[in-house]
Amino acid sequence: MTQQDIQVQDGQELREAKKYFSYHLLEWYQGQKRDLPWRRHRNPYYIWISEIMLQQTRVDTVIPYFNRFIERFPTVESLADAPEEDVLKCWEGLGYYSRARNIQHAAKQVKELYGGQVPNDREAVFSLKGVGPYTAGAILSIAFNRPEPAVDGNVMRVLSRYFLIEDDIAKGPTRVKMERLAAELIPEGEAASFNQALMELGALVCTPKSPRCLTCPVMEHCAARLAGCETSLPVKTKAKPPRPEERLAALIEGRGAHAGQVLIRQRPQSGLLARMWELPHWPAPHGEGGAKGARLPEAAALDRLRRSLWEAGISARPEKHWMAAEHIFSHIVWTLQVYRCSEEDALPLPIAAEGRAVYNADADLFSGIDSSMPIERFEDGTASPEDGGAVRWISREDMANYAFPNVFLKLLNLYFDEQEERAKLEQ
Ligand code: SF4
Repeated sequence: MTQQDIQVQDGQELREAKKYFSYHLLEWYQGQKRDLPWRRHRNPYYIWISEIMLQQTRVDTVIPYFNRFIERFPTVESLADAPEEDVLKCWEGLGYYSRARNIQHAAKQVKELYGGQVPNDREAVFSLKGVGPYTAGAILSIAFNRPEPAVDGNVMRVLSRYFLIEDDIAKGPTRVKMERLAAELIPEGEAASFNQALMELGALVCTPKSPRCLTCPVMEHCAARLAGCETSLPVKTKAKPPRPEERLAALIEGRGAHAGQVLIRQRPQSGLLARMWELPHWPAPHGEGGAKGARLPEAAALDRLRRSLWEAGISARPEKHWMAAEHIFSHIVWTLQVYRCSEEDALPLPIAAEGRAVYNADADLFSGIDSSMPIERFEDGTASPEDGGAVRWISREDMANYAFPNVFLKLLNLYFDEQEERAKLEQ
C-alpha cells in the first residue's frame, strides 16, 4: 500500500468517524436532553442570559438564578433600563460579577442599536459586551439555528477524546482547530440541537474525571477509549495558581442609634467587584517571620486594623478575632481575617487633631478627608478615599437593598444569625 493509499484510507475513516459521531450524538440527545428553563423557548434573550450564567457555573446552580432574573428582567429593555444595583442584586451569589455588568451594558447596546431584538448576525452578536466566540456561537446556533460552532472547555474535552487530539487546549491555535472541527460536524439544519447535544454529552457523560464510556452514544468509534487513554485527555497546561492575599476585615458593630447594625462600605467605581458592598478590609502585612500568607499575630493585626480604620476615617475599635473566610477569584485568593470592632463615638484624637474627616454615620465617610494628608494606597484601591464609595449602617433587613460578593453575604448572614440566637437565649 502506498503512502497516498494510506492517507486516502485514513481520510475515509475520519469521515466515517465524523458521520457516526454526528448521527449518534444527535439521536442520543433527542431522547436524553434535560428539561431546562431556557430550552423551553427559542427566545434569543433567554439563551444569551443562560449562556452567560452557565460560564464557570453548574446548571443546578444557574436554574433558580435564571428564573429569578427572567422574572425580574423579562425583556432586553427591562434589563437595559434597570438600576445596576438591581442587576447585581439578582446576580448576588453567582460570582464573576463583571458578567452581570457586561450583560447590562450589552442589553443597552441591543436596545439602542437593534431595537431591543438580539441580532441574528454574527458581527453584531460578536460586538456585544461580554460575548466571546463561544457565547456568540451558542446564541447564533441555539436561537437562530445557524451552523456556528460553540466550543468551550467541555466541548474541547469531548472532541479531544473522540478524535484523540493531543494538542494543548489552553492554546489559541488548538481552539481554532477545534472550532473548525466542531463546525464540520454540525449536520445540515441541526445546529441548535447538535451544539446542545455536544454540550450535554460533555456535562453528563464525557465528564472530566470519570467519563461514563459504557453508556456513551459514540463509544464505538471513540479513539481515546479504544486506545485506553480517555482519562489522560484533554492535554491542558495548568494555569498559574491564584495569588494568595491575607487581608484584615472589620466587622464593626454599631452602638446607640446603630445598635444591632453593622457598617458596610461600597467598593470603588471600577476594578475588582466594582460598586459592590462589603465589610471594610485591607491587605495585611506578612505574618510570622515575614512569611507570605502567614497569619499576623493578634496584637499586630489589631494594631494594623486600627491604623487602617483610622486612615479611612472610620471611628471604630478592633477588639478580637472573629473568624477567617476565603474569597476565590480566578487570579487571586483573599483570606480574610475578620475582627469584631465596636463603633466609637468619635475618631481617635490623632485624627481629629490633624483635621481629618469627622465621622458622620449618614454621610460618605471619605468625603471630608483632607486630600493633602498621605493616604496609604493598596493594590486594588480599596483604601483610596478618592475612589471609595459610601458607607452605610445596615440591619439584616437592609441587606436586601445592597449587592454583596459571596464571602460578605455569608459573613453578614452568619453574624446576624449569631445575634438572633443570642437574643433568643437572653429572652
Ligand atoms: S467513549 Fe468515553 S471518552 Fe469517548 S466520548 Fe464517550 S465518554 Fe468520552
